Amino acid sequence: MLGGLSNKLRDAMDRLTGKGSIDKAAIDDLTRDIQRALLSADVDVQLVLELTEKIKKRSSGEMPPGLTRKEHIVKVVYEELTEIMGKTKSQVELKPKKVLLAGLYGSGKTSTAAKLARFYQKKGLKPFLICCDTVRPAAYEQLQQLAKRIDVPFYGEKGEKDPTRVLKNALKQTHGDVIIVDSSGRNALDSDLIDEIKGINKVLNADERILVIPSDIGQAAKEQAAAFHAALGISDVIVTKLDATAKGGGALTACNLTGSHVRFIGVGETPEDLQQYDPEKFVARLIGFADLETLLEKARSVVDERSVKQMIKGDFTMDDFLMQLESINKMGSMSQILDMAGLGKAVAKKGNVGEQEEKMKRWKYAIQSMTREEKTDPDVINSSRVRRIAAGSGLKESEVRELLANYSKIKKMMKQFSPGKMKRGGFGALFKQFGM
Ligand code: GDP
Ligand code: MG
Repeated sequence: MLGGLSNKLRDAMDRLTGKGSIDKAAIDDLTRDIQRALLSADVDVQLVLELTEKIKKRSSGEMPPGLTRKEHIVKVVYEELTEIMGKTKSQVELKPKKVLLAGLYGSGKTSTAAKLARFYQKKGLKPFLICCDTVRPAAYEQLQQLAKRIDVPFYGEKGEKDPTRVLKNALKQTHGDVIIVDSSGRNALDSDLIDEIKGINKVLNADERILVIPSDIGQAAKEQAAAFHAALGISDVIVTKLDATAKGGGALTACNLTGSHVRFIGVGETPEDLQQYDPEKFVARLIGFADLETLLEKARSVVDERSVKQMIKGDFTMDDFLMQLESINKMGSMSQILDMAGLGKAVAKKGNVGEQEEKMKRWKYAIQSMTREEKTDPDVINSSRVRRIAAGSGLKESEVRELLANYSKIKKMMKQFSPGKMKRGGFGALFKQFGM
């Protein structure tokens, strides 16, 4: 399904690039394609309409300098989606707390309870797992075994039917500081389930009331999120089974409805398979747009004109040079960057993209082997220093000299550049200086 969604959006985007200048009809087309893509990822219909309206409006509006219309639209889509699901990497408070997991049967609550316990355990806290699923016969054993596997204390009462009784007894024990309570689900929403989970939370008074939703939940996400939110006041969302299907649209719906953000994602069956939510990764996955991170990085580097100005005004040190190299690394593989700089084809012909990437990496080692003095004032690097740096970083002396020569070229270029030029042609020009 990820493939389907991905292809649709990609097609839409490609059509936009193909069209040259963007007209209103092209934006309408794209908006319709985004609508279809979101719907097939199971995002709630009403939400899709609201989202695409916003995207349409912003897409036709003012564009930041240095971005193409297509890039601008991808950025807008990204911003609108992360506005709902969380704009930043999830922050998890590392302190004693009480956590309650809610969700229907099979959504991944019990697995997630163990995953969370493992997460906090690795962070040095003491988790305590409590089984309040008194409905499913094997629930007790399932959590008990998981707890044993990760060596975390566990409490449950086999045969007891009242989860609040179990919970009260569990809380009399002092087995940990992050108390994680697994609850029972049902095949469908019913009032028994809602009453039960309310009862549990009345005893627990959880700090975090987490809705666990599987990525393949479909349009049912809305109803479930609404019911659990009304009962508990959902504070966080965890999306499970993202390794199996990448639809994930239910997450968007649930976040929108509860006003909470995605905290973690589940990517497998073992207690290790939990990741903190990362907006770029998640959205790239959701809309199937693998280059998203690269593109956003580009958008940022274009917008972040200040640091460039600073560099031109002040001295361009080896640290600045390293920063440049690192920003290139962050942006993804060299070939992508070269593509963006419009040099992709020329370089691909020469067939030395991998070589250039390797070179960058080696230069980085060399810079890291320099003293502070050498970094701020590379003119002091004489041949005995070159020898030392080469030995320290495992490079040939000729490579260190090549690095120094390139650094000097860039430094000279930096002085010539006006901020405007740097903004527009920055990387292309940089690469030319590298002899690429
Ligand atoms: P619960 O009924 O809500 O407690 O759900 P469980 O934790 O028992 O999970 C139901 C099934 O989904 C089990 O077979 C789990 O192993 C599986 N499962 C849970 N989370 C994930 C996940 O992130 N990825 C995969 N592939 N399977 C998962
Ligand atoms: Mg369970």
